[in-house]
Amino acid sequence: MTTPEKFKALAGPLDNEYVKQWKQDGGHTAAYFCAHAPEELFWAARILPLRVRGSGGGDTSCADQYLSAVNCSFVRHSLDRLLSSDMDFLDAVLVTNSCDHIRRLYDILNSKKQLALCSYLDIPLVNSSDSRTRLAAQLRTLKNEIEAAFRIEITDDKLTKSIALHNRTRELLARASQLRSARPRLLAGSEMLAMSVAAASMPKDQFNELLEVRLAEVEASAEGSGGATAPKRLLLMGGMLDDPAYVEEIESFGAVIAADQLCCGSKTFSNLADENIDPIQAIADRMLNHPACPRMLCDYQTRLDDLLTALDEHRIDGVICQRLKFCDLWGGEAVMLRRSLRHDRSVPLLLLERDYLTAGTVGQLRTRIQAFLESLD
Ligand code: SF4
Repeated sequence: MTTPEKFKALAGPLDNEYVKQWKQDGGHTAAYFCAHAPEELFWAARILPLRVRGSGGGDTSCADQYLSAVNCSFVRHSLDRLLSSDMDFLDAVLVTNSCDHIRRLYDILNSKKQLALCSYLDIPLVNSSDSRTRLAAQLRTLKNEIEAAFRIEITDDKLTKSIALHNRTRELLARASQLRSARPRLLAGSEMLAMSVAAASMPKDQFNELLEVRLAEVEASAEGSGGATAPKRLLLMGGMLDDPAYVEEIESFGAVIAADQLCCGSKTFSNLADENIDPIQAIADRMLNHPACPRMLCDYQTRLDDLLTALDEHRIDGVICQRLKFCDLWGGEAVMLRRSLRHDRSVPLLLLERDYLTAGTVGQLRTRIQAFLESLD
């Protein structure tokens, strides 16, 4: 299996070869749902942090006992996986108030799933020095909960080493992201998404080794001509998207995803934690300083400025903003983006609404993409 194929496989169901080996070696695992997660804290306790995905399942009959059809399909599929025996390798779950759909999971999992730890983090909705201090205080409480539940001591030294390891992962992914923009024929947008999803599905030290091999391969390769006309360069943004197959569909028309602003993509590696301050405060600062999503209040202008900077930096021809049905956060954001991009700046924008599992949406997706790309000519 080539390294790109390996990343794609690791972006599939979570019970992959690395997780199985980790459990066989007596390791513990902890699941989380959102880019606002203190991975470094779990890893410092030698607990493998894993970002939950709803892929690998079929219907949501189990989850539908607790959630309605107008709840986010990512949340419904994820809950269905979590309540099934397929995710019995999980020892802990961290739920955050990323949105109301995810927050609801805490009540359900706390009463329905046998876990060593089921914890909740109230992530502030504004980024300020007070809110970062408040988040750090919550992380100290979570640290105590982890130490009590797994009878382990999390020292500052372990935290500092964990931060350094996770920063290394972010630096490598940022390098891959630059390569994707500079040489999209060698490192496609679908592979970039598979990489960042795989990074949250296995031990970071082993992931870093895999990615270093792949980066060396790409940097040593010569990029072919790629045809007479330069491909259309797109930026892909929006809510939960963890399936590389969705990006492959878009790129199958010859366009390239030269950049992204996805919460499973560049938002997971756009900033580093400070290795020279109190490690818990460093983790809190990184969690709130990373490029924001629509859950953050009074922050739209910052998000828009970040997007406009990315459009120039990556020479983008068009933006695709995809969101899951019933995702109220991205529903509101899409309305503002339409005004900001289409009317104020005449940047071509395609708004797509979808279900979580790609399989069911390919036909409609292909029609919309084809029409959008033709409009860019
Ligand atoms: S896609 Fe939207 S509704 Fe679903 S979990 Fe993310 S923010 Fe919440």
